[in-house]
Amino acid sequence: MSLKRVTPHTIRRVVQCFFLFFCLFIGYRLFQHFLWATGQSSVFIPKPPSVEAFLPISALMAAKRFILTQKWDMIHPAGLTLFFAFIWMSLLFRKGFCGYICPVGFVSNLVEQFGRKLKLQKELPVKMERILSIPKYLLLAGFGYFILIKMSTRQIESFLTIPYNYVADSKMLAFFTAPSITTLLVLAVLTILSLFIRNFWCRFLCPYGALLGLCSAFSPTAITRDATSCISCGKCRKICPSAIHVDERISVHSPECIGCTECVGVCPVKGCLTVRAFNKRVPFTTIAIGSLCILLTFYAVAVFTGHWYADTPPQLIQKFHMMIFNR
Ligand code: SF4
Ligand code: SF4
Ligand code: SF4
Repeated sequence: MSLKRVTPHTIRRVVQCFFLFFCLFIGYRLFQHFLWATGQSSVFIPKPPSVEAFLPISALMAAKRFILTQKWDMIHPAGLTLFFAFIWMSLLFRKGFCGYICPVGFVSNLVEQFGRKLKLQKELPVKMERILSIPKYLLLAGFGYFILIKMSTRQIESFLTIPYNYVADSKMLAFFTAPSITTLLVLAVLTILSLFIRNFWCRFLCPYGALLGLCSAFSPTAITRDATSCISCGKCRKICPSAIHVDERISVHSPECIGCTECVGVCPVKGCLTVRAFNKRVPFTTIAIGSLCILLTFYAVAVFTGHWYADTPPQLIQKFHMMIFNR
């Protein structure tokens, strides 16, 4: 494939596939770790630290404790590192985490694509979209209220050191590997809804996406439309995974914009849709590359400064697993 034909869509899918396979790999390693920790295997496999990215509530508590006491969470240190990395990503490069890294977002995109192929996708009236967006902000406000306002540092400290928190990643693994009927039903409903309404979970229910969206409001990076050259074909609006009315905006500052640049890729008028940062035109790859650079920088700094690997002795991890899973 010539470099000229490398589209935003191709780049995004390559990055998303990489992270999906990476998550499957670390999920498998976590499973092996779980077998050891619960005594089902004698081969010690350390827990892959990156799985802690899936513990945002614990990370939010640890972030508050860190800000108030400068004490880094050494039970899930990678989780806290990644939490700050994703926040910074959003502050600088819109919701790059949602657009390129999150595997849930990717799966949701695939369902959306399938729904498009079947011609099932519907556009919602703006008013209904606004109403449907309320639950994720309510969930976020609920977590924010209890963790950031109600919980004291001592209560956070107590929560972070209970055995359950030590094995929270294994609990999450069990949630996905042995789902209850309710979980399966909820997943089925969300999948069916996403066939008709693009990215239903991400747009209307995910509180993490809501948090990153609010942070992205400060981002200096945005999709910009040149109204004078726009031919109002509506292609940008149709392709947008967040159903943003790109064709009616001059600059897209919506908290829903995941920076995927799919709209830029489909615009038939050269230079009509562009990515701008600090009011200067930048390559469309800026959001993807910028997001990945932030991720790698946080990872490297955390590894070199000892803020990536947990300091919990394996014997303690095994003891808590035996206590919680082998009852
Ligand atoms: S909205 Fe939530 S689930 Fe969707 S991509 Fe973003 S973080 Fe992932
Ligand atoms: S506005 Fe463009 S960059 Fe933002 S989510 Fe929609 S398609 Fe992606
Ligand atoms: S795809 Fe380009 S030309 Fe078509 S409506 Fe959107 S901005 Fe205008």
